[in-house]
Amino acid sequence: MSTTRTRTRVEDVCPTSGLCPICVKECPVLCEVSLSAFRGREALYPDPNMFGNSTAGALKDYGLDWSHFNIQARLLGAFGIKEDSDLAIFPNVDVETSVGGVPLKIPVMIGAYGSTDVARQNWDGLAIGGALSGIIVTIGENVCGMDVETRIEKGKVVHSRELKRRVEAFRKFWDGQYGDVAVQTNVEDQRLGVDIYAISKLEVNIIERKWGQGAKAIGGEVRVGDLQKAILLKKRGYIVIPDPEDTEVQEAFKQGVFKTFERHSRVGMP
Ligand code: SF4
Repeated sequence: MSTTRTRTRVEDVCPTSGLCPICVKECPVLCEVSLSAFRGREALYPDPNMFGNSTAGALKDYGLDWSHFNIQARLLGAFGIKEDSDLAIFPNVDVETSVGGVPLKIPVMIGAYGSTDVARQNWDGLAIGGALSGIIVTIGENVCGMDVETRIEKGKVVHSRELKRRVEAFRKFWDGQYGDVAVQTNVEDQRLGVDIYAISKLEVNIIERKWGQGAKAIGGEVRVGDLQKAILLKKRGYIVIPDPEDTEVQEAFKQGVFKTFERHSRVGMP
């Protein structure tokens, strides 16, 4: 049985297509190819039922990975500190750096954790850990747009409890010197004025413009299991599939024909 609960009729499949070498008309099992034939683009999202409670690994065998390398370290002499055995000791190792004028205690930036449930649910650990470590933590796209309690006036965000919570969680443990919290903005965020809100009301110092999409090759980037929320998101400018304002779609949703809407955001252009 595969990750997506499919299987093939025989084990010796074609490596490039995934098809059984002899694909039969009256096949008794559901394979990836037949699943895709039945469900189309829906099959791009591996397991919608686990949305918010899972993260992604990968099956692909690249033929070469980091486990094939061994770093045989040597320690001889000292760099960046006097060659003195009493000074060149472990606690004095300094790996500080800076990015865009922001000093970092260790050369790490993490993100971007946006509007997905898994990011929202795990934000405190990420933000507090990042603040204590002196690194940059980036709040991802769509946080304001996906927050149903966000107040929007004349098309612009004037209050978002969720974005405020995220910034404050970092700042509470931040030393005010190393690292910082950044806010990423995509097309919809910019249209909703999230950058202006973050800078002017939450005193955020770093805005990251999102050009293109990152880990979005899976298609429906967020699943919405609530009809009213799907309608709200469409009204806020998101692409919601299928159309939650279509009465036939609404009826099908209520009857359980499908359980979640897909919410897509647009691709930013540099
Ligand atoms: S549909 Fe074809 S490729 Fe898929 S499991 Fe059946 S025989 Fe194999």
